[in-house]
Amino acid sequence: MPEGNEIHRWAARHAEAFAGKTLRVDGPQGRFTDSDVIDGRKLKQVRAVGKHLGYDFGTDRILHIHMGLRGDFTEGSGALPAVRGALRLRMWNAAAVKAAGGEAGEGESRRKVVYSEDDGTGEIEAGKLAWIELRGPTDCSIYSEEKWTKLTERLGPDPLNGDGPEKAIERIRKSKKAIAALLMDQSVIAGLGNIYRAELLYRARLNPFVRGMDVSEKVLRAIWKDAGPLMQAGMVDRRIVTTRPQDRPSVQDAGLNGSKGKAGASKGKNQETLKVGGKVLKDEAHYVYRRNGQPCFVCGTKVMRQEMEGRNLFWCPVCQVVDEAKVAG
Ligand SMILES: [Zn+2]
Repeated sequence: MPEGNEIHRWAARHAEAFAGKTLRVDGPQGRFTDSDVIDGRKLKQVRAVGKHLGYDFGTDRILHIHMGLRGDFTEGSGALPAVRGALRLRMWNAAAVKAAGGEAGEGESRRKVVYSEDDGTGEIEAGKLAWIELRGPTDCSIYSEEKWTKLTERLGPDPLNGDGPEKAIERIRKSKKAIAALLMDQSVIAGLGNIYRAELLYRARLNPFVRGMDVSEKVLRAIWKDAGPLMQAGMVDRRIVTTRPQDRPSVQDAGLNGSKGKAGASKGKNQETLKVGGKVLKDEAHYVYRRNGQPCFVCGTKVMRQEMEGRNLFWCPVCQVVDEAKVAG
């Protein structure tokens, strides 16, 4: 499921591509029937809060999109591709698509990558996007300004919108629920999903089962402070990377070789090992998320997994043992 980083990334990207332009919109699948409300209008801006996108077409017409577990965009430059699959919505820059040859061709640069597999390589420049397609969202509907405001009032602060953590801290410290459940609650913090929840708790070395009311304010502030830059980094490509370089096995190995080897040759080799497309190795991007049964990078203990409120929770039982210092009296 896309988390806040991905939603904000789409918002910035689509604003750059489409704001101020006249857009065509339709719903080929037949499940989005309000396209005529926004079709042919100019897009003013794109909003993002938590996991919600709002395409503002002015005069109380906001296209609300919530991706849910399976929603994703396909995008491209050039002509609009023929309709394929369960296509909920298409939105395109009328002028750019017309210039590229129309609406029923084969898209020249069709880009489709599964969310979790995407490392941002081969991305089309936002300014060159001509169209986007949306499949599988939980919601795609027209909101009034009032409905959008009501939605945002229900949500907790969003680390990517410059909000402060006060409301989140207040809600967490009043709750008997486990901190891991609270971090997933969008009315506590907007935008966090399963990956950031698990990884932020690990980075704070906080036990996921501690009750919200028992976590010290200091620790909660540190988690909030950690969340912003981590989520910001996740906006660069579609990847979430939470491990510190010194904790990644490939970096540790490289450091070891470098110190005993003869500088030149081994250094070159190490750099090569580290690079792999210039990115962090896929298996080393997270400390605990989906690493159950594998050794913790820091202490070597097997990472645990358990279901909590219908979602898998991952943690290291040693690094994240209940620590009195982090628990308020
Ligand atoms: Zn550990």
